[in-house]
Amino acid sequence: MSKNYKIALLPGDGIGPEIMQVGVAVLRAIAPQFEISFSFETALAGGAAIDETGHPLPAETLSLCQSSDAVLLAAVGGNKWDTLPSELRPEQALLGLRGGLGLFANLRPAKILPQLIDASSLKREIVEGVDILVVRELTGGIYFGKPKGIFTDEQGVRRGLNTMVYSEMEVDRIGRVAFEAARKRKGVLCSVDKANVLEVSQLWRDRITKMSQEYPDVTLSHMYVDNAAMQLLRWPKQFDTIVTGNLFGDILSDAAAMLTGSIGMLPSASLGEPGKPGLFEPVHGSAPDIAGRDLANPLAQVLSAAMMLRYGLNEGAAADRIEAAVMQVLDAGKRTGDIMAPGCEQLGCKAMGEALLAALA
Ligand code: NAD
Repeated sequence: MSKNYKIALLPGDGIGPEIMQVGVAVLRAIAPQFEISFSFETALAGGAAIDETGHPLPAETLSLCQSSDAVLLAAVGGNKWDTLPSELRPEQALLGLRGGLGLFANLRPAKILPQLIDASSLKREIVEGVDILVVRELTGGIYFGKPKGIFTDEQGVRRGLNTMVYSEMEVDRIGRVAFEAARKRKGVLCSVDKANVLEVSQLWRDRITKMSQEYPDVTLSHMYVDNAAMQLLRWPKQFDTIVTGNLFGDILSDAAAMLTGSIGMLPSASLGEPGKPGLFEPVHGSAPDIAGRDLANPLAQVLSAAMMLRYGLNEGAAADRIEAAVMQVLDAGKRTGDIMAPGCEQLGCKAMGEALLAALA
């Protein structure tokens, strides 16, 4: 019997609706090939939601997302809403979704596609074959730890304070996501911390090491974050899956992403407890400078849909099929403007979508 998945679609702002259309068309096209089907429901988020309802994440949108099997988001934001108070800005929709769906794990792949090697700022021999997944803890650590604030003591000296704190439970649940993800890849996991200086990292290291006993098929190593930053630039091919806390992951995932050199190609996933809906979205923003002109690269959105299949719905074969179609159109020399190279054929967003559908047929 075919499985039906309920998917909440949040096209958002700027190029969001254009790239979402391509993502949905691709999902519709592969469904029958894998005996699955999708019930899509579209909801307002970001600036579009502010215009319509006065709030970036209306209650109906959050409850639709909570009752879906997965959430596919495009991007939110734009100059039009930049003067609103921060609690009413489009980006609040992302924070509301993270909180409301309990999304504590952020998965950011950085994979060099052979067709786009020259887009990287590093030398070909350094980046060729790079395929890294950064698993970042998203709801704990120094960004949320208490106490926090700016305080003035009796002498009138002001101090800024943040607290880097992780409980065993928080380390264990991100650790499990990372070991499971590594298992679906090459089975090599590097845990990044600062255990030579920080007690919070010593606890992190203890728990990850303990968990590794449950995953004898995954090879675990540990690395200090300063060395990890250096190694990412020196010899990125040594990494397969990286797991790290919120602050280190914020920085390292952007550094790893930039090895690939092309923002229009990067998907991401944010996951919560097993069985709960995850959120899948491109790394890039709403690109207001090119919105509505059929110039956007829809591939990050399409690859986010593939991540949704792999990590959200456990439909790895369908994800493989989509990723293969992306490779096929790139192999055929088809490019959007942002990844255009000499000798290639430049397409708009819609035509890129059509090329993908042809590859999937
Ligand atoms: P951006 O990622 O939207 O754009 C940066 C540059 O990359 C622009 O030149 C843009 O044209 C280009 N670009 C981005 N995606 C592209 C694509 N798919 N195809 C072709 N070119 C693409 O970042 P920004 O300009 O800093 O932000 C624009 C808006 O997006 C802001 O309101 C920001 O807050 C928001 N934003 C949202 C998210 C999100 O929804 N997750 C993430 C980042 C930024």
